[in-house]
Amino acid sequence: MLVSKNKVVSFFYTVKDDNGVILDQTESGKPFSYLHGAHQIIPGLENELEGKNVSDHFSVHVDAENAYGLHDDNLVMTVDRSYFGTEPLEKGLQLQIQSQDGFHIVTVVDFTEKNVTIDANHPLAGVNLNFDIEISDVRDATKEELEHGHAHGHDMEEDYEEDDEDDEDIEFSSDED
Ligand code: ZN
Repeated sequence: MLVSKNKVVSFFYTVKDDNGVILDQTESGKPFSYLHGAHQIIPGLENELEGKNVSDHFSVHVDAENAYGLHDDNLVMTVDRSYFGTEPLEKGLQLQIQSQDGFHIVTVVDFTEKNVTIDANHPLAGVNLNFDIEISDVRDATKEELEHGHAHGHDMEEDYEEDDEDDEDIEFSSDED
């Protein structure tokens, strides 16, 4: 079965930046699963998976633009130090903050006693991604998966969604029916 719209695809991956530093990878024996065509994964990767088959093993280079976007300087801002309470700060520290549209990860760029400069870009904004992919399964999505717009049945799914789309509360309410 080939990867196409409305298939649930499972694959193992390692992703590195252009310097060969590993940014993320699937644990051994635990593939990542997603619903193809539902924009669950970055577009540059989803496009490359189209038409691939089970046990295909290949590399994909995704430019930052088609991954987590280019770095937006407007998202670097200075806020009052008190916003972080007594939290010990250091350059490069990543913190989760809540705003009207959900949780965001911000990176501390610099700080003084009064102010903190934070970068609200996605930690991988501006980073080109180099994936090594091995497809382990392709199957038809269930009716429920199509209704929800995502794959079910793997622990990885929840981690991925928290990082990416913050749609967990929608998910909880729809599962109670
Ligand atoms: Zn669901």
